[in-house]
Amino acid sequence: MFYSVNNFALEDVPQITQRIFDTGSVLEPFIVKCLQNDGWNVEYNQGSQSAPIEININIGGGFIKGHHDCIISRDNQQNILVDIKTMNDRSFRSWKKNGSISDKPQYVDQIHCYAFGLLKNNVKIDRLGIVGFNKNNSDIHIDYFDFDPQRMAEILDRATNIFSLNEPPEQGERFTAWSCKYCGYKNICELAGKKKDTKVENNALFTDDDDIIYALNQLYDSRELNKSAKELEDEAKEILDEKVREQGFKTVQGGNFILTLSESVSNRIDSKALKKEFPEIAQKFTKESRTVRYDLKEAF
Ligand code: SF4
Repeated sequence: MFYSVNNFALEDVPQITQRIFDTGSVLEPFIVKCLQNDGWNVEYNQGSQSAPIEININIGGGFIKGHHDCIISRDNQQNILVDIKTMNDRSFRSWKKNGSISDKPQYVDQIHCYAFGLLKNNVKIDRLGIVGFNKNNSDIHIDYFDFDPQRMAEILDRATNIFSLNEPPEQGERFTAWSCKYCGYKNICELAGKKKDTKVENNALFTDDDDIIYALNQLYDSRELNKSAKELEDEAKEILDEKVREQGFKTVQGGNFILTLSESVSNRIDSKALKKEFPEIAQKFTKESRTVRYDLKEAF
């Protein structure tokens, strides 16, 4: 916000980042259609940056501008101002489980600004919400919350403060290094990619290091892919066992594939029994080897 209000030049958005933004824009009308199919009456402010209704909040020294997405109503849920967000599976599940206020406070602030602008223009809004769309499996979820005047007052205070500064602000409490990746000022901003303080407690590291977070995400994704691959393989084998192997066939050709089934027998030493019967021999032929287990679970 500081760079924008002080007219610093925005750097060109890399193609890959632009495609991520464009994917959200392209999906938005489809998500609106899904809401309508679910029985919502949708007042759609279509067009993203060129949408017909623009919110413009003037604050001393600058302004907050934006375009809300939709106001939706259904049965006894009326006039809900929502913003549509597309998310990857991990982000979607975390948000669905923890809620917008805790998991995506930036979305909550954004929609508070829209609500503030619309309410000032006497548009009827009873609640706020985020419509999330899971890009991996097309799941849709709506998280509702109320307009919080205290939160809005704090947003306005923060903005007023930033507009009054001559130097870029210090790193705030809610700073997350990942958001800099998509920022058009990252080449001039000293905070870009800066890590939050790292903490060590009981030999455990708590960090915001992008490389570590990237690696944890990679590990998580690879485990999820392995799980899905195993499910696919098990499903395929069940069919092939029933229709091919148990019918006595060793080879089958269909579609683009030839499958050959071969049985193999393997022998292994029963190390438990060996240790019990001949402990000295077991000891003599036991070599120490070390492996590292990477036990990963979700932190929230
Ligand atoms: S680079 Fe990061 S800290 Fe700097 S303005 Fe952009 S998002 Fe904010």
